Amino acid sequence: MTLKIIHRPSPNFDERNAPVSLLVLHYTGMKTGAEAIARLCDAEAKVSAHYVVEENGDVYQLVDESKRAWHAGVSFWRGLRNVNANSIGIEIVNPGHEFGYRKFTDAQYKALIELCGGIKKRHNIADVNIVGHSDIAPERKADPGELFDWELLAKNNIGLSSSGYDPKIQGRTSQILDSRIKSKNDSSLVELGYEFHDEGAITAFQRHWRQDKVNGQWDDECGQILANLLETAGR
Ligand SMILES: [Zn+2]
Repeated sequence: MTLKIIHRPSPNFDERNAPVSLLVLHYTGMKTGAEAIARLCDAEAKVSAHYVVEENGDVYQLVDESKRAWHAGVSFWRGLRNVNANSIGIEIVNPGHEFGYRKFTDAQYKALIELCGGIKKRHNIADVNIVGHSDIAPERKADPGELFDWELLAKNNIGLSSSGYDPKIQGRTSQILDSRIKSKNDSSLVELGYEFHDEGAITAFQRHWRQDKVNGQWDDECGQILANLLETAGR
């Protein structure tokens, strides 16, 4: 299947000054997709994204991938700051936490798997660099949020899976993971890519990789998941 792209050019972009190495997913956080697209194309708003994925699966392209779209704002991931220059941004239509956060649709996932798969391949983006807006701006942002099925994307080779490693089965690995958890409990979110290991980052981490308990509190399960991710990211 070839993804059908609807072109809706936004004036809100400029030239890149760095190569693409990140893919950032967002939700629109507005009442309707049409309203969100209008804003992302409004020169006064000074915001944009490369793509918008509607709830019916329609994909709009607003900015060419070779240009810098304005979607991330103040942000940090794995040493990169203010990542617009380094990233492709996709807005997924959803009212968000403010206007009635709801599940993303099957049509959206279907479109995203194809769209993200193509982007990852075209720009050779590492799975650890496929992140949510909240991962790169935890103090300001909660999107795409804890209802977004990152695991489904991971199953389709897009991003890291939180369940990639089962230390109970992997005997030798288990010891490595145990020691990692013990020794890196304070700094390990930084090792994954977050700027700090604080409550905001822990919350963002949970929204992405431990969605059934988002409380901003670090616990053993978080440590285990993080160890799994570091193990997978390192391969
Ligand atoms: Zn966002």
